[in-house]
Amino acid sequence: MARPKSKESFDPENETPGRRDGCNAKPRPRPVRRSSRYSPAEVHEIFRRFSVQRPEPKGELEHVNAFTLLVAVVLSAQATDAGVNKATRALFKAAETPRAMVELGETRVGDYIRTIGLWRNKAKNVIALSQALIRDHGGQVPDDRDELIKLPGVGRKTANVVLNMAFGQHTMAVDTHIFRIGNRLGLAPGKTPEQVEQGLLKIIPDEYMRHAHHWLILHGRYVCKARKPDCPACVIADICKADVKTTSIPAPLVPIAPLETATTEDQQP
Ligand code: SF4
Repeated sequence: MARPKSKESFDPENETPGRRDGCNAKPRPRPVRRSSRYSPAEVHEIFRRFSVQRPEPKGELEHVNAFTLLVAVVLSAQATDAGVNKATRALFKAAETPRAMVELGETRVGDYIRTIGLWRNKAKNVIALSQALIRDHGGQVPDDRDELIKLPGVGRKTANVVLNMAFGQHTMAVDTHIFRIGNRLGLAPGKTPEQVEQGLLKIIPDEYMRHAHHWLILHGRYVCKARKPDCPACVIADICKADVKTTSIPAPLVPIAPLETATTEDQQP
């Protein structure tokens, strides 16, 4: 007998009908929706509300310049922002440039980041990417995705975060929260982070692209959470088309304090 999917992994966009009622008919795969379920006016309104709620959203990874941002994002893979910040506060006091990082050396970098998962490999990458920045970019972080993803430990998501936060480029770094929102709401459905990225880039109005990445992450972290979306606290509940939503009455649209307290669920990477 097929085991039912857990609530957490249930994905209404990709769920296959059949079998649940005990019927033995072969389930027919439902075609995966690729386009947004929202009109341009609805998308505009969603992001207008996010912009009222959080006029100046900030990333939660602490950094002092583009280089330390790049290092922090590399360290944040499979780790929480809070855990990374705890380690990097001391690390960035000791080294905030590629040259200083290389002088610190892999062993000492490792000592600073020992509390972060995969720290050995990450310490190696931090030194290797610092060396590459000195060798190929005069010690500067390049504002070009193709160059960024050549650096050790840097993938497309990391490059997009750095391009957006350090250089103000209109990129969309799809993390676990944005991937979930793109699919759950049908905002930009996709099987891969890159498909969701392309879908979001297509529909989000230019005027909101600068902060769209942070708005979506924060919405996913604090409201449209993985296990149990907090629909009564959601300012877009009336527009949302997610099958899992529990109310269509939007929460009052008021600016919220920039410093939010991470919930237990937020401790997921
Ligand atoms: S209404 Fe619920 S499911 Fe829809 S975006 Fe808000 S929190 Fe998520």
